[in-house]
Amino acid sequence: MTATKTIEMKSPAEIAIMREAGRVVSEILEILSKAAVPGTTTAELDRIARRELAARKAQPAFLDYRGFPATLCVSLNSEVVHGIPSEKRRLAEGDLVSLDFGAVVRGFFADAAVTVGVGKIAPRAAELVRATKESLDRGIDAFQAGARLGDISNAVQARAESAGFSVVTDFVGHGIGRALHEDPAVPNYGARGTGPRLLPGLVLAIEPMINAGGPEVEVLQDGWTAVTKDGALSAHFEHTVALTEKGPEILTRHA
Ligand code: MG
Repeated sequence: MTATKTIEMKSPAEIAIMREAGRVVSEILEILSKAAVPGTTTAELDRIARRELAARKAQPAFLDYRGFPATLCVSLNSEVVHGIPSEKRRLAEGDLVSLDFGAVVRGFFADAAVTVGVGKIAPRAAELVRATKESLDRGIDAFQAGARLGDISNAVQARAESAGFSVVTDFVGHGIGRALHEDPAVPNYGARGTGPRLLPGLVLAIEPMINAGGPEVEVLQDGWTAVTKDGALSAHFEHTVALTEKGPEILTRHA
């Protein structure tokens, strides 16, 4: 988490460029979601991400970020976020796959994530996916001019916990723009009416990470992969969202 410094507000012209970056991210996430079938390796998904970025003349947001070795984060089942693609990880029927992906277009970032099931998934897994996606939707609904950041956090938390799931607190959403991670931090938990006031020009990556078991996570020896401590399933959805004069606009819409 970062200390609150200056929040960089974006002009309509800057948001227009971020809309292009968001479209690249959402188109590629859709392609990746369809490619997540039994037998595919997570390294193959990373290759698809790289190829599709190049085809759109966009740059990867995650590759080499603090040393991350890939273009795409792929996190399976009890992995929460930041899974590293591997030739040794092959998707199997029933897996939950979280795909987290970012792109840079003309100096501006967009970032989004989806969790998809490989083939048929267990009812409990499907419920987790639905609750996580809806918690993101509720968070976006709360992203309104004059509201507070804590209103977003609280909306996400309330939806996830109403289903008996728990919110990961070790990782949070973030401002986004000329950098992948800008202020403010966007926790997936908190109290209404607290935090910075939300105003047009603010662009946030809102990204609930929700566990079927307890909220605790730990990072594996690879230095990246975060997993649930109790081995329970985890899901992750994320959108880059701009607050405009007309309300929240999802820049990574098709993700
Ligand atoms: Mg993010």
